[in-house]
Order: sequence, then structure tokens, then C-alpha cells
Amino acid sequence: MVEIQTFTTHLECSETGKHYPADQLHNLSDTGKPLLVRYDLASLREAVNKDDLAAKLEGGFWRYREFLPVRQETNVMRLGEVTTPIIPLETTSQDLNVETILVKDEGRLPTGSFKARGLALAVSMAREFDVKRIAMPTNGNAGAALAAYCSLAGIESYVFCPDDTPDVNAREIELQGAKTFLVNGLINDCGRIVGEGQEPGGWFDCSTLKEPYRIEGKKTMGIELAEQLGWTLPDVIFYPTGGGTGLIGMWKAFDELEAIGFIGSNRPKMVAVQASGCAPIVRAWEQGAEHASPWENAQTYAAGIRVPVAIGDFLILRAIRESHGFAIAVDDELIEQARTEIAHSDGLLLCPEGAATFAAYKQALKNGQVDRSDKCVLFNCATGLKYPMPQVERSLNINQEIDYNGILGH
Ligand SMILES: *Cc1c(COP(=O)(O)O)cnc(C)c1O
Repeated sequence: MVEIQTFTTHLECSETGKHYPADQLHNLSDTGKPLLVRYDLASLREAVNKDDLAAKLEGGFWRYREFLPVRQETNVMRLGEVTTPIIPLETTSQDLNVETILVKDEGRLPTGSFKARGLALAVSMAREFDVKRIAMPTNGNAGAALAAYCSLAGIESYVFCPDDTPDVNAREIELQGAKTFLVNGLINDCGRIVGEGQEPGGWFDCSTLKEPYRIEGKKTMGIELAEQLGWTLPDVIFYPTGGGTGLIGMWKAFDELEAIGFIGSNRPKMVAVQASGCAPIVRAWEQGAEHASPWENAQTYAAGIRVPVAIGDFLILRAIRESHGFAIAVDDELIEQARTEIAHSDGLLLCPEGAATFAAYKQALKNGQVDRSDKCVLFNCATGLKYPMPQVERSLNINQEIDYNGILGH
């Protein structure tokens, strides 16, 4: 078997710092907190350099595998991952008279969302540990990615989603090979089913942040972004925040990149964007709290960020504060408007969660939380095609004379 050079030394409790051995299966720490993967960064620094990386032919997140924990090449699960493009919103930025806003479009990844990053890593590591069955709660995209990578890896998958998960997501998960269940509750209710089912179900719980490797996959967003921007970072990152894996992961990536000398100490302001109907992190940030209390009656059409309880809440809040960023909530109505606006003016179809970041950007600009001159990156985390779109209202009858003036609206 081909052993990849990896630099994992141990795992570490994100709360107490207690060490746990790498190379064995883990969920949470003894204190019930997420575990973070730690590396021998001095050796990583010796082993990688920017030129070698630039010369690699492989695009997508596996090009950063020296930064990742998978040891056996045969366990690296690939479905054609790509380096996701950074798309400038030229027209919109000109209209707003601001520095060109950049969108990192994660919808181009396998299964149409950035959940592919996290789940590819989680599933690849599960294979390293010979896991045969995985279960997970999901609002849609994570389930699809889990199902796809598990099918590829030959691992059984069980997925539980709220029964109002967008229909296309639930069908996608089923079609990708997971045993899929619709649950009359929210994602935390699904999470409870998965957690309590570990014994009777004999499965590994792959819930957000309840296993250590999804963060490692999501951190590649930070590495990729930095590489694409010539090893610099933007001034502000707007991130649609549910469980917060991506925000925590990118924040971790920046520290690792600094430790190996790829970037300096400048950091972007990290902005957690949530929907007004489910904004536990925003509320905690405004209250100056270290943890977020559960959000009651969570509601938003941006399903990916309808997460009333985040186990990594303190890690999200810490990253926001350390970065001098902020948390901001936007109404569903503004999210929909933002989605239409970007589709019409710049030709880019965002998912609602991605549209929320643009709505938040506009709000932050108005509030003076960002400057016109700030270089801002918005994360569009899934393809807009997976979400409900407005009905077409116009029709034509071929048995009547076609009214071209009417078509043009004259
Ligand atoms: C899961 C998801 C999010 C939230 O990501 P986290 O890293 O878990 O906070 C945002 N947008 C979309 C489209 C998602 O699927």
C-alpha cells in the first residue's frame, strides 16, 4: 500500500487542550467537545513549498493532502473534486461603488456543495479505521455528500433529515445510496436519533463536529482561497454559518499556513451570516456570550443554515472575536431579493445561504461594519440549482397569434 506522507501528531480537545491519539476512531472529547487534528508543523514546513504546490497538476482539495490526515492513498476518496472558482461580481460592485466583491463558488464541487470537502475527509478517514456503517443528521447537502462518498468507499450510510428538507435534497441522498429517513423535527432532533442509535444501529456518528475530520476537509477552503489569492487573504470573509465547520476550519487553516511560513499574521475579519429566523450565533455574539443558547422555532428557507444548536458555538464565536469580525442576521425576504439581484446583474445563481452573505454584505456596508475599499469574499456553499426557484408565470398559446409586442412588454 502506498503510504502518503502525513504529519498528524495527535488530536486535541478544543476546550481543554487534552491530547488524544491519532490513528484511532474518535467522536467527541471526554468533556463532550470537538476534537481538533494537530500536525507536526515544523516537519510540514520542511516538506512543502509554494513552488511544488503550484506545480501540482491535481486541482481540488486533495492537492493539499500533506495538510490532511489521510495516510493510505487507497483511502483517498475522489469524485472529481475541482478548485472552486472565485467569481467577481463586477456589475453589482460597480453599482454599489465598492471594491469588487468576490464569490467563492463552492457549488461546483461533487454533489453540488462544499459539504463534499468535509465528508470526503470524514469518509476517507472512516475507511482508514475500517468503519462499515455511518449515520448522520442533515439539512440536505451534508447527507448527499456523505451518501456519495460512502457509496464510493463501500460504506453503508444512514441519513436522517427534517421532513421539510428541500425535496430534491432528500431524493438526491436516497439516489446516492443512503438509507434516507424524513423526520418530523429539526436537525437537532435528527442528531438525537443518530446519537442514541449508535448502540442499536451499530453505526459511526458523523454529525457536524462530532467527528474530527470534517473540519480538516473544510479547512481546505482557507488554503485554497489563500493560494488562489497569491498567498494573501482578503479583508473580510462572509460565511453562511450553520454548524460553523467552515468558519472554524478556515480559521485553523490560516494558523497552520502562518506556522509553515506561507502567509503572515494578517487575518480577514470573519463574519458569521445567519438568517433572522435562526440566529443563535448572532444573538450570542451580540450578548458577548461564550456559548450560544438554542434557538426556538428555527425558521428560514436557507436550509443549510437552519441550525438551532451548534456544538462548536464557542469555536465560531472565538474565531469571530479573534478576527475582529462580527455576526449578522438577515431576513429571508432580503435573502431572496439578493439571490434574484445577483442572478440578474452578474449571471451567478446563488444558493439561498450564499445569497444571505450578499444580503449581509449590503447590510454591513450600510452599518459601516465594512468599508467600500475592503476586499470581501462571500461564500456560496452550494449550487443554486438544488433549491426552489420562482415559478414562471408567462405562457403562450400556439393556437393564437403570437403577440410579440406583448412578449417584449410593449
Ligand atoms: C451546511 C451548509 C452551510 C453551513 O455550513 P457550516 O460550515 O456547517 O456552518 C451553509 N450553506 C450551505 C449551502 C450548506 O449546505
